[in-house]
Amino acid sequence: MDIQNTIQTLRAELDQHNYNYYVLDTPIISDYDFDSKLKQLQDLENEHPEFFDENSPTQRVGGAITKNFETVPHLHRMYSLDNSYSKEELIDWEKRIQKVLGEVSLEYTCELKYDGASISITYENGKLKRAVTRGDGFQGDDVTNNIKTIKSIPLQIKGNFPATFDVRGEIILPFAGFEKMNQDLIEIGELPYSNPRNTASGSLKLQDSAEVAKRPLDCLLYFLIGNDLPFQSQIEGLETARNWGFKAPKEAKLARSLEEVFEFIDYWDIHRHNLPYETDGVVVKVNSFHYQDELGFTAKSPRWAIAYKFKSEQVATKLNSISYQVGRTGAITPVANLEPVQLAGTIVKRASLHNADQIEKLDIRIGDTVFVEKGGEIIPKIIAVDWSKRPLNSEPTKYIAHCPECQTELVRGEGEANHYCPNFYGCPPQIIGRIQHYISRKAMDIEGLGGETVALLFNNGLVRNYADLYELTVEQILPLERMAQKSAENLVKGVAKSKSIPFESVLFALGIRFVGETVAKKLAKHYKNIDTLRNATLVDLVLVDEIGDRIAQSVIDFFQNQENRIIIDRLKEYGIQFEINEKINLNATDILAGKIFVVSGVFTKFSRDDLKKAIEDNGGKVGSSISAKTNYVIAGDNMGPAKLDKASKLKISVISEDDFINLINKTDAAKD
Ligand code: AMP
Ligand code: ZN
Repeated sequence: MDIQNTIQTLRAELDQHNYNYYVLDTPIISDYDFDSKLKQLQDLENEHPEFFDENSPTQRVGGAITKNFETVPHLHRMYSLDNSYSKEELIDWEKRIQKVLGEVSLEYTCELKYDGASISITYENGKLKRAVTRGDGFQGDDVTNNIKTIKSIPLQIKGNFPATFDVRGEIILPFAGFEKMNQDLIEIGELPYSNPRNTASGSLKLQDSAEVAKRPLDCLLYFLIGNDLPFQSQIEGLETARNWGFKAPKEAKLARSLEEVFEFIDYWDIHRHNLPYETDGVVVKVNSFHYQDELGFTAKSPRWAIAYKFKSEQVATKLNSISYQVGRTGAITPVANLEPVQLAGTIVKRASLHNADQIEKLDIRIGDTVFVEKGGEIIPKIIAVDWSKRPLNSEPTKYIAHCPECQTELVRGEGEANHYCPNFYGCPPQIIGRIQHYISRKAMDIEGLGGETVALLFNNGLVRNYADLYELTVEQILPLERMAQKSAENLVKGVAKSKSIPFESVLFALGIRFVGETVAKKLAKHYKNIDTLRNATLVDLVLVDEIGDRIAQSVIDFFQNQENRIIIDRLKEYGIQFEINEKINLNATDILAGKIFVVSGVFTKFSRDDLKKAIEDNGGKVGSSISAKTNYVIAGDNMGPAKLDKASKLKISVISEDDFINLINKTDAAKD
């Protein structure tokens, strides 16, 4: 088969797998196999740039940077929707329609109203051409590069489609993906996003499309528009869109009367809470295009469609006080303490106020009666003040100027939403938070020690930083509240055991701002030990894959701090792992003499070059391609299936990097 054919076959195959996974939700191959195929395609495309295609599945990983989003006119205007809040309003709407159309019997399409950012995507000859945000309805921003990274949007559609048409859909961030993003942010000491909708719409305007690719965005389609569409109604349109490869939610339903519309509304008013994404209502559309044409548009919206907004669960209650929490990184979060009230099945006592701007915008004052709402987020929020109940003597809320925990004057960086307590090394919640992070499961994983005990140890003056943990004795801990002999012993044992935690986890545990798990791994792998990392310059750091200015500066700041240097020196003395553990035999031996190795794929323990060097240092040879002379293939992640095939045909043993390490060590032992 010629190269071009192979490339096209792979693209079609990968498109289909993407569709199975992201639209149908039923993958039929493993992630590993998918990645291998993608890698294979990527390699072929690299070798044959003449077959480049901007809509190849390889383009979904992003990488294109958009400095300024170009403003482009919409071919078809993007209208708003009229809103309604009651069934009476819907009845009135139907009456207005019947005035225009006469007493015809009407069918409606009922769809959920997805809460995200709207997008219009133009397809030409079945290929995604351009994606534009709604903007003011007449023109929007060209965000094509970013949109292409969303896997449920087909880059190439299938079936019988007109030469050109637009699709309209909502870009959303499902709850699960949103929570995961927030977990990752919290882990590196950043503030979480406040809600899925703003995060979704903010994502569309990120400059680096590779960043967008990392976000679990989705696109739910609700409309097609064009000149030669092969259908005559909204419901058929959705069906056709599905066949072409789009994700048009199956919840959409045809209603044969307003009664059936009400049933749909009543059902989803309750069941929407079980959906994986946020919805804020139902959109009702006259089904027939013929009637839609007759009805036309007002200045702002179609006469043939209307949104019915669900009442969000809301209660009024009194704001008793505002307290200010200090996070691990010093960020201040204001919290509203409310008169306890029942809301959506739980008792609510507190609500998030986000930051100073939010308080100012809502003009929230202590003693006010406020409306509290539960949206998609877990913590309820205050949406407004009931002015009619404001006490006469109330005073505007003054945001605190000093840290409530250590009295240090707060700072607020330019363009930052939150105030910070800059007393990084003296502010109790920051110190406790850092130690809690240090002992956490993904960091030093210290058994026998929990977050509350850390606070207890700190409050009793037993630890001031994480290095102090290693000096703790059973005798010191025993007098603490609820501490028995056994648990005290376990604590000390758990701390000692953490000395064997690998370097990359230690690096994460240190709690350097912006250094999450993945970044810690990258740094550990690149610098191999803490001293090299400590001496790295800014220029040096940004050269490491995926390390940007912000992370690099944060690493520099961390190691420049005198206190941190002392702590690290102490940890070193206690025997914490400060270098990467490469169990490979780096001494020159002749263990592998006469053996030819082929190295393929990506490895986790070493770089490919290190692996090759290790083979040669131990007397082996590195071959460039698999042949009958090859003795071993060392396979990493993403090794191409073609290579695997060849190896198995030639009966060459395929080994992992661990096998390779064992190979050297075993031979070593045998020789001893
Ligand atoms: P609004 O922004 O309140 O005027 O509502 C109109 C917006 O609702 C549209 O621009 C779409 O982005 C969004 N929307 C969400 N779901 C749907 C749907 N099923 N049909 C039409 N529009 C929808
Ligand atoms: Zn403080």
